[in-house]
Amino acid sequence: MRLIIAIDGPSGAGKSTLSKALAAELGYTNIDTGAMYRAVALLATRRQIRLDDAQALRQLCRQMQLVFKRSGNEERVLLDGEDISAAIRAPEVSLLTSKVAACAAVREELVRMQQQLGKEGGVVLEGRDIGTVVFPQAEIKFFLSASAKERGRRRFEELQAKGMDVDLQQTIEEVRVRDAADSSREHAPLCRADDAIDIDSTALGIDQVLALMLGIVKERLARGLPGDLG
Ligand code: C5P
Repeated sequence: MRLIIAIDGPSGAGKSTLSKALAAELGYTNIDTGAMYRAVALLATRRQIRLDDAQALRQLCRQMQLVFKRSGNEERVLLDGEDISAAIRAPEVSLLTSKVAACAAVREELVRMQQQLGKEGGVVLEGRDIGTVVFPQAEIKFFLSASAKERGRRRFEELQAKGMDVDLQQTIEEVRVRDAADSSREHAPLCRADDAIDIDSTALGIDQVLALMLGIVKERLARGLPGDLG
């Protein structure tokens, strides 16, 4: 039995790290849906496409060749053959991404791609709307959160470690701005699925959260699916 596992939650809650770690532990494929929205934002900027031009954005989604490549522990994102892993994490791209992600045409295109990528199971998908829109039938849904202050602090450390010149207060503020944009948008706003399992990671380390998630997955695997005779 190969499950579809959804990890949703606000930015900086630890979704990326945990999604990768959980997929590695289970031998599953990890799908970082945020990277897909980020790639669209980056490409739209480069091609000087207006963010309210839904038709042009839809075309761009259909044409772009996005490939996730795993090399050792590293996951690289290739856009039309170019490694854009670092470029899509720049703070200015993060802010633009929230705007691109509010476009219904972009969401339609990317959700379709995500459903194609995950339909066979054996996947961990991380994002904002996986358990509610992309795979409402996912066997396990986690909703991972942490306080905005803690999430801002984590993002600050992450960016600083990459040698970026960042300010702690400003990073916390950017997390709040992005939260507000993601929660209030008209199409697929960030919200937890009714049947999601809540995990608050404010006071927990990565290893503790991973152990918690693994325990839940193993218990679910042991129970099997309804109607599953194996
Ligand atoms: O997860 P990450 O921070 O990389 O996501 C970047 C942005 O992409 C989010 O702030 C959100 O606006 C958007 N996003 C989304 N739906 C997803 C994943 C990401 O709207 N499933």
